[in-house]
Formats: sequence, structure tokens, C-alpha cells
Amino acid sequence: MRRRTGATSCTTLMAALAFAVAGPSTGPATGDPLPPPSPTAPAPYAQGIPTDTPDGLATYLTFAFGKIDEYWKNRFQQEKLTGPSTYYSLIRSGQESVSKCLSEPVQTDTDNYFYCPADTWTNEEGTTFTGGIHFPVGAAMNLQADTSAFAVATVMAHEYGHEVTQEYMTQLNLPAIVQMKDGAPVLDENGDTVPVKESELIADCFSGNWAKYAYSQGMVRHADLGQAVKALMSAADTTIGAHQPHGNKSERTTAFTLGYNTGSPLKCAQQYWVTFPWP
Ligand SMILES: [Zn+2]
Repeated sequence: MRRRTGATSCTTLMAALAFAVAGPSTGPATGDPLPPPSPTAPAPYAQGIPTDTPDGLATYLTFAFGKIDEYWKNRFQQEKLTGPSTYYSLIRSGQESVSKCLSEPVQTDTDNYFYCPADTWTNEEGTTFTGGIHFPVGAAMNLQADTSAFAVATVMAHEYGHEVTQEYMTQLNLPAIVQMKDGAPVLDENGDTVPVKESELIADCFSGNWAKYAYSQGMVRHADLGQAVKALMSAADTTIGAHQPHGNKSERTTAFTLGYNTGSPLKCAQQYWVTFPWP
């Protein structure tokens, strides 16, 4: 993880993100119950994509990534920011995905969904994307069997949440969400920054922001929201270091619920960007 020093002023950040609290949401407090699922949302997920095969699930996840990307690109445009510009790799049977964050390639059954800020990919048109989401489809089939396809999509939204964090950090010059002491990042014996659970909880919260949007798009069925938290719990990623904390079940439920109920990235930042001097 890159180390950063200095912080933008509170007013700059709040102005940049303030649009988020001006929406129709009344912003119920942390821990309030989620609104009921849409009774009219047809199964499966209003798109008619069967997800009971790896190819079907991959098709659904491609659709879901498009919706996640659409949500955050709209947000960033409203915030007068650029991007995000992450790419994603759906790892199917017989395929491998290589990442600068891991020494071993990831295969379809590798139970590790993660985001790596150092990865880049250039498409056929010559556009380069920075930050890669690695998503093993075989493992996702197992996760879906325990939860639901939408819950798997919220795990992808969590990984995208790390990209959102990275973009806010870079574009608004915010400090990294790592252990700090006297205004500087604490370093471990290898000279690396020390992760804190809030860097994961903010990704859960951003995932909740997207889930609220997905709800408005008719993508959410009965029980999907509870399954989403279950999926996030079981799909703890190991992007940075071996000792990356994720928070306990209660904390992760609270983070996702805060993001969902408020639909506000600013609320997520105020709660979990613990290295920023909020007023
Ligand atoms: Zn994560």
C-alpha cells in the first residue's frame, strides 16, 4: 500500500462529497433495519440471467460489475472527480489471473477475491486501467450456493470499494487508512504500513452504498441483504499483507447497513476514514 502524507482540508473533502447527503435518503442511523425488499422484483434479479452454471454466474457478474461501475462513475462525475478506472478479471475454469499483489497466480477455485491497486491492464483500444479486481468464478459458485448471486455481487462491490478508497485518497490527497502515530504512518519490521480494520469496513460501507442503488434498479430480492453480509464475512480478502483485519460480524454488518441505509459515501468516509481529521 502506498504511503501518503498530508490531508486536504475538511471543507474541501466535505464539499467534494457533500452531494451525497443531499439525496432523497433520510439517512437513518447506524444499525437501523434495512428497508424491505421490493415485492415486485422478478427473480432472478430482474435481468433473467440464470446463475446456476459458472458461465451464467460470470455473465451475471459482468452485468453486476457494469452496474457497480455505473454507480461510482456517476458519483465521481457529480463530485467533479475522474474515474474510477479499475478493471476486473473473472477467473474461469482453466484460467489464471496474475497480480502484483500475490506471488502465486489465482485460479478459478482459489478462495480469494481481492483488489490490487498496483495492477494495470490495457485494452485493445489502448485504454489503460489502474487497479485490478480478481474474482475466481469457481469459488464464487460455492459462495453463491451458501448465499445468493446478489450477495456475490456485493463482494465484488466491496472489492470495487477499495478502488473507490484509492481514488479518493489520490484525487483528494487523503491519508491512507492505516495505523498512524503523531501524524505519520506506523511501519512494521518490513517497512510496510500496518493495516487497520477501517480500511475493510469502509469498503463494506461503499458496498452498501451500491446495494442501495441496486435496490432501486430491481436487482435485490428477499433475503439478499442478509445474505450479502454473510457473503462479505466469508469472503475476507487478503490483498495487503497476511495480517489484514476485517472487523467482526457486528462491525461488518453495521458498516454495510450504514452504507445501504444512507446511500452516502460521505457518511462512510466520516465513520471509517479514521486517519482524516474530521471536525
Ligand atoms: Zn477488502
